[in-house]
Order: sequence, then structure tokens, then C-alpha cells
Amino acid sequence: MPQFQFCPYCAAPLVQRLVQGELRSACSTNCGFVHYDNPTPVVAAVVEHDGMVVLAHNRAWPQMLRSFYGLITGFLERAESPEQCALREVKEELDLDGTTATLIGVYPFEQMNQVIIAYHVPADGTIALNDELDAFRHVPLHECQAWPSGTGPALRDWLRSRGFEPRILEIRKPTPSE
Ligand SMILES: [Zn+2]
Repeated sequence: MPQFQFCPYCAAPLVQRLVQGELRSACSTNCGFVHYDNPTPVVAAVVEHDGMVVLAHNRAWPQMLRSFYGLITGFLERAESPEQCALREVKEELDLDGTTATLIGVYPFEQMNQVIIAYHVPADGTIALNDELDAFRHVPLHECQAWPSGTGPALRDWLRSRGFEPRILEIRKPTPSE
């Protein structure tokens, strides 16, 4: 991922500097800015609707993920609780009304520098996708597959809590024949 080049406070170039024993990107002036590069929290929802899990495909995903369907995810708004965020994202992206948001777990996602906070959200209504998504699937629990990183371990753990051991999908680059 690209790194910041300039200080967001005073626009001076950033330099590598030891800050409390760790090498950090920090402002080259005395303004005090240090880029700690802390992970961003991302809220994910395992949506249960009509007795099945709803997985969705994001319009913005790259071609190599064209056949991948994932959980509903979103970023926290300021002053919003993660539970509220999960219910809001389910409403915004699927137009479903979540009844509760129950924590599944919290998962590091190092490749994206994120921390996934995952909830189980039973939801009612009729699915209508917003413009972030271009497709969804209803998947019976016994047919659900998980994936090795990101939100995949949360789906795996939730399925296990319901007595299902999912196969773990390999996410791979398509071969030229595909
Ligand atoms: Zn600065």
C-alpha cells in the first residue's frame, strides 16, 4: 500500500525517525506529527435471512474476485458503536432490517492493515442492493464455504457455532483458460 509522503498538519515531507524506540514516518519539522499506521477497524456482518446466509459481491472488487461473494462490511462512523454500524450497513447495502447484532469475534487482517469486528445479524425484509453491490446469494448453512483471511475466519467461526465445519475456499488468480 502507498505510504504518506507529506505531513497532513503542515505539509512538510515525512522522514523515518525513531519514536519511543520504533522507526516511524514522522514530520521533518517540529510540528509533532507521527504516522503510526494503526489498523483501521472494519465492521462485518454474517447476515442470516430466510434461514440462509446472505453473501454479496462488491462492484468495486478486482476481476480476480469476480466470482467471490463475501460478508457485508463497512467502516465505522464517528461516535457510532460497532453494533449500530453492523445494523446500518445491513440496511444500507441490502435494505434488510437487522433484529440484533451479536459479536462473533475480532480478527486481524494484516494485508489490509484492518481489524475486523464481526457480528451475526438475523435480518428481515426483502433484499434490495445499493449501488456498492452488484449481486448476492442466499447460501444454506451446510453449503457455506469460508475463506482464509479477512472476514473468512469470522464466517468459519459462526458456522462452527451452528455445528457446520465449512470448506475453506482458496482465493486464487484465474488461469488464462478461464
Ligand atoms: Zn508537520
